[in-house]
Amino acid sequence: MSNRLSLQTSLVHSHSLDHATGAVSIPIHHATTFHQKDFDSYGVYDYSRSGNPTRETLEKTIADLEGGDKGFAFSSGMAAISTCFLLLSRGDHVLVSEEVYGGTYRMITEVLSRFGIEYSFVDMNKLHAVASSIQENTKVIYMETPSNPLLKITDIEGVVKLAKANDCLTFLDNTFMTPLLQRPISLGVDVVLHSATKFLAGHSDVLAGLAVTKNKEVSERLSFLQNSFGSVLGVQDCWLLLRGLKTLHVRLKESSETALKIARFLENRDEVEEVFYPGLTYHAGYEIQVRQAAGPGAVLSFRLKSEQEVRQFIKNVHIPVFAVSLGAVESILSYPSKMSHASMPKAERERRGITDGLLRLSVGLENAEELLTDLEHGLNSIKENVTAITR
Ligand SMILES: *Cc1c(COP(=O)(O)O)cnc(C)c1O
Repeated sequence: MSNRLSLQTSLVHSHSLDHATGAVSIPIHHATTFHQKDFDSYGVYDYSRSGNPTRETLEKTIADLEGGDKGFAFSSGMAAISTCFLLLSRGDHVLVSEEVYGGTYRMITEVLSRFGIEYSFVDMNKLHAVASSIQENTKVIYMETPSNPLLKITDIEGVVKLAKANDCLTFLDNTFMTPLLQRPISLGVDVVLHSATKFLAGHSDVLAGLAVTKNKEVSERLSFLQNSFGSVLGVQDCWLLLRGLKTLHVRLKESSETALKIARFLENRDEVEEVFYPGLTYHAGYEIQVRQAAGPGAVLSFRLKSEQEVRQFIKNVHIPVFAVSLGAVESILSYPSKMSHASMPKAERERRGITDGLLRLSVGLENAEELLTDLEHGLNSIKENVTAITR
């Protein structure tokens, strides 16, 4: 069904019907074990770590949305990412986007390294740099686009071409875009990853991760790894995630529209040095984004002049939650240099453009005009404060 219908319609209908009863919301199967008629031929399900009907519904749903053959649900985005890295063996090398999510950075540098898996980081936005960083033993190229927090854009097809020429797999963290805006499998990516904790679930109340592939060999190995490592998603959370997905289209559309309004407002304010949003025509990689994605998404970053100004601004902005995370019904304002990137040495942070004036805003579903007024109030307070000091 979902092959012929739009994603908007599929989100609401694809797998939510329980065919046994006609119920429009699928049942939560709590059972951990399943009765077998005899020991010669097991049924479809035997034990819930290996397979559960509720989880399977979610896994089929995300596989369809991403245009893959098989989906896998995990207990967090990091569980999905870490399990997929177990496709690698001692002596293999992974080439990773320099602007990778902090938890992924930690997993690669502090955990995989202990198991003899080598890594190097590269500016994934420079294809020549990617090409020259591929080694004899490179088995995976890992992308994240748009990146966090500067929303840098990677040319997915360009990287896929290099990977295929060098016999590497490609992984892509699609958390910021979701399959509604970006479908990496159609661009040749082997494994698509999600922190479903963010836009897919969408309500800041479920921790979950998803992986999707269309590569048959990878799919069989991932099934084995998911069952072996065992960090599967619990059935209650599978159900919550399925429910969140039904409204993904309307949430993302509304939030993205407001994000563009906010970006345009911010770029005209003197207190703001720079705005980072893939929906602005001058954003680096804008043309690539237009070519490979259906929209710019609902996350943007902007730079104030100093930590002092950030303090003043945050004190006077009241609608967004001030917190880590993103992709929720409520707008979330975060401060990368003291939150997501706090563990990075200051010099390294600043080299990457994550200065003490940088703020990230994940736009939610509040009234756009009210959000703008709130942000305006915050910015005005900077001006007033500065005037008060200089007076
Ligand atoms: C949050 C996040 C993750 C990690 O997901 P968890 O669900 O928190 O484990 C990975 N990648 C990106 C881009 C994220 O934003």
